Amino acid sequence: MPVETSLSGGLEQLAFDNSFTRELPGDPETANRRRQVLRACFSRVLPTPVSNPSIIGWSPEVATLLGLDPLPQDPELMARVFSGNLVLPGMDPFAMCYGGHQFGSWAGQLGDGRAINLGEVVNHSGQRHVLQLKGAGPTPYSRTADGLAVLRSSIREFLCSEAMHHLGVPTTRALSLVLTGEQVVRDMFYDGNPAREPGAVVCRVAPSFTRFGNFQILSARGETDILRRLVDHTIRHDFPHLGEPGPDTDVRWFHEVCRATADMVVHWMRVGFVHGVMNTDNMSILGQTIDYGPYGWLENYDPDWTPNTTDASGRRYRFGNQPQVAMWNLLQLGNALVPLFNETEPLQAGIDHYADSFQQGWRKTLGLKLGIADATAGDKPLFDELLAILAAVETDMTIFFRNLAHVDPETIGTVPPETLTEAYYRPEQVTTEHRERTLAWLRQWGARLRAGGTGWRERARLMNTANPKYVLRNYLAQQAIDKATAGDPSMIAELLDLLRHPYDEQSHREPYAARRPDWARHKPGCSMLSCSS
Ligand code: AMP
Ligand code: MG
Repeated sequence: MPVETSLSGGLEQLAFDNSFTRELPGDPETANRRRQVLRACFSRVLPTPVSNPSIIGWSPEVATLLGLDPLPQDPELMARVFSGNLVLPGMDPFAMCYGGHQFGSWAGQLGDGRAINLGEVVNHSGQRHVLQLKGAGPTPYSRTADGLAVLRSSIREFLCSEAMHHLGVPTTRALSLVLTGEQVVRDMFYDGNPAREPGAVVCRVAPSFTRFGNFQILSARGETDILRRLVDHTIRHDFPHLGEPGPDTDVRWFHEVCRATADMVVHWMRVGFVHGVMNTDNMSILGQTIDYGPYGWLENYDPDWTPNTTDASGRRYRFGNQPQVAMWNLLQLGNALVPLFNETEPLQAGIDHYADSFQQGWRKTLGLKLGIADATAGDKPLFDELLAILAAVETDMTIFFRNLAHVDPETIGTVPPETLTEAYYRPEQVTTEHRERTLAWLRQWGARLRAGGTGWRERARLMNTANPKYVLRNYLAQQAIDKATAGDPSMIAELLDLLRHPYDEQSHREPYAARRPDWARHKPGCSMLSCSS
């Protein structure tokens, strides 16, 4: 690495203000050796240089957000920086210490085993964004693993972060996807078949990467003074509108975390997203979707579906269980905060607030999905019946809801409209009884719309704001992966561009809105994913 590199593309103007490492206690040991790190929120660690970094994914919106040129004029320079090969002046790289409940059991110290925070950028508008490299080499928290990430999981993280953002789902963002030029060994299905795969690094971007687990580890170790400092830091930097930390602010903060988490899960349920690994170390304190691993998108609406083969037996993280799991996770966060609150009632009230927020948010959202602007508790039977109908035969969730906006419930005939039956994966499953049930529901829906008085145009407009046309279908991500692995990364940019406008009709890209093809039904990567990444 040359001693001096002239920076360009906006890199020369990045303003770093590293509040996390400045204000919180760090690990006094600097050796990059795997260990338990006590009485510290982070350990300073440098990314491991890679041999031949090249950019194969870039988000112009995130670049602009940070104050970088929308497209890199000097891709080699950007590849060096966002692979970790070139640490810029002002950066202060570190890995965070956190713990977590994994699949319901306390796992002790986890930490950033393969994520390295480069620093906090303050942009022109004063917004703070942490740059974080995922897959940039081992840290003191790497435990028995290698600190690296493979191309397939990095493409999935890069694309999904941006797709979720454009869908309006709170999420961490992704600036770049860099091939490292190195190979990484993975046993994808943990079945004794390790293989070499291309390595990659994603640069993730978020106001903060603090997780429930950051608080939990301090509490579990009885490091209450540091827990206090982390809460103060979080409130001051990420929730400044709540005021200075103190007993009242703390309560309002916890309630806000509960509300933000509810809001995030409502959005997941709206778009058919299954996170796959909702461990408490994968829960952002900001209520942003974080850590894209074995996630998936519902194709046919099935509340019991999980893409994660590692969770196939218990299905703890199945689609329909996400609201309950988020609440359980908040309860664990609440437990971790008990030493700071003199009483448990406000924490319990926060959990209740989650339940109320989720219920109200989900009702409102389902209303919007059906063109009902003023949904009330009385609409529950209408909603429940529709979800039961969707689950009864394999029906593509995205297509069904999107196409419902084309249906005029005043002119329902003797068979469901073709625009809806297009959503069926197995038309042979559709019985006369199912057809009648669907027609009855459509008439009920029509009656509800009439009572609500929303005009046809307005109804379709509402529905199209809540029902995306395009989502990152599992098989599409896998196609982009297969092509990139074979040396052609062009589909990454194509999907990124498609998913920039998920609610718009993009007539030249109609095939991307189609049902999952049959060949993808049981294909690894399309319907089955493991935690191996
Ligand atoms: P995850 O299931 O991806 O959320 O990861 C759980 C924990 O394992 C986190 O502490 C990760 O940092 C760590 N981890 C996952 N993969 C690796 C890896 N390849 N190298 C080091 N740590 C890892
Ligand atoms: Mg994680």
